[in-house]
Amino acid sequence: MPHRIGNATILACLLGLLLAVACPAIRAQTEIIYELRYSAPGDRVSMKISPRALIAAPATLVIPRTYPGGYSQVSYDSFMENVTAVSQDGKTLTCTKEADGPRWKIGQKGENIARIEYQVDITNMENQLLSAVDTSKVRPGYLGLLGYSIFAYVEGLERDPITLQVRAPEGWPVVTTLDPHVEAPKSTARAEAADYYALADSEVLLGTDLQLRKLGGKIGLIMAVYAEDEEDIAADGELAREALDRVQEYFGDTPFATYTVQLELLRPIAGHDYNFSQEHIDSGTFSLSADRAITVKSSSKQRETNLFNYAHHMAHSWIPKRAYGVGYRPFTWEMAPVIDTIWFNEGFARYAALEALVAGMPAADGRAFRDDQLSGFHGIIDSAPPFLRHMPMVVLSREASFLYSSDFRTGMNVFARGALMAAEMDEHIRLKTRDKKSLRDGLRALLSWSARNQKPFQIEDMPTLLSKATGVNVRDTLDRWMAPQP
Ligand SMILES: [Zn+2]
Repeated sequence: MPHRIGNATILACLLGLLLAVACPAIRAQTEIIYELRYSAPGDRVSMKISPRALIAAPATLVIPRTYPGGYSQVSYDSFMENVTAVSQDGKTLTCTKEADGPRWKIGQKGENIARIEYQVDITNMENQLLSAVDTSKVRPGYLGLLGYSIFAYVEGLERDPITLQVRAPEGWPVVTTLDPHVEAPKSTARAEAADYYALADSEVLLGTDLQLRKLGGKIGLIMAVYAEDEEDIAADGELAREALDRVQEYFGDTPFATYTVQLELLRPIAGHDYNFSQEHIDSGTFSLSADRAITVKSSSKQRETNLFNYAHHMAHSWIPKRAYGVGYRPFTWEMAPVIDTIWFNEGFARYAALEALVAGMPAADGRAFRDDQLSGFHGIIDSAPPFLRHMPMVVLSREASFLYSSDFRTGMNVFARGALMAAEMDEHIRLKTRDKKSLRDGLRALLSWSARNQKPFQIEDMPTLLSKATGVNVRDTLDRWMAPQP
């Protein structure tokens, strides 16, 4: 409906204009193009960042020193080289790295920025970073890139939409977990990311040695495998497929269409560690030593270990990716955030994965599996040194915010306590409701609350959110597990 422009409207427009200038939060968003290039053979990838609209200088370019769920500092800036920038009229701009931070000051006042370029030395990254899951990798026929290890952002533009363009060696298939296809495009690929977080928490995988399989299901599953030794992708894929089906059934919804397993089975480099896997929004990085490969010779114990590892990391696509406490999101990319709820991220996700798998087992097997897992968690707490056992949960979680895997006593104790808290809440809810409800109902409600509110929950609000869905008060259980352990 057309309307007359009166004085009030003009005033409102002027006010809006003033606010837009004064307040960067309502700055118009601009699309940013990230162009990733790799030529084989080579140690380095090249990046070019070009915003659709010019950026006013000076601006700050930042590369992460930590990543969601990493709970540690990883100096990705150490592997970034040759940062250059030009203005719209082709003028070379100054790019100065800060002495202490992973930041570069680009340009001077009065200039504009049309393009920023840099390289990342992937070989050096893998040599320097001893935890295989922290690092991207390059091999003669394979390049496996973790988004946060190579993509920098311009401070203030983290929420802007991104188009990723990949230029690979001629004929190399390219998979980006932003839009994964088993019939992967060759030589070039393109995908969209809603914002920097989505780009940073994705992987780019390419190469003639990359093996791709699709296994259909409610949520599609893509196995993207690079193996330096024998691996039965079909058999391993079956385990991942089962894990994804069970976990999806547990949470009930399908928040994403496809899950990508990035599986790397590597001949170990001396002094490097291959024990951790890493969750992302709708994918997981499994960088394992080649002896973890599934083959006809694999024992049922090995299969169970892989099944549980898949289920655990897939459960993270719900907890904490879609329900989380303070500190997890929004994320601080330069310093590992202090998080009070790692017991939820790691303990509740672990328990959800456990219950998801139990639901698919014959009753007696399920009970035995659950008992075995829970007694393992008790064993971790019982064998912890007194100073650690006597830490209140929040303090332990804060320690684990930085030390989770580097001093895995913090990681193990925080997940063990969290998982046992979840188990006790589950038992209590089942008992009080005569098995009509379980913790699963509470977690589904918590996920809905998080989706609606798009914000972290406060610890003290968690029992209320859980009891709304189950009718059972679990505050006593929460309080007991938040306290120092005897
Ligand atoms: Zn985990």
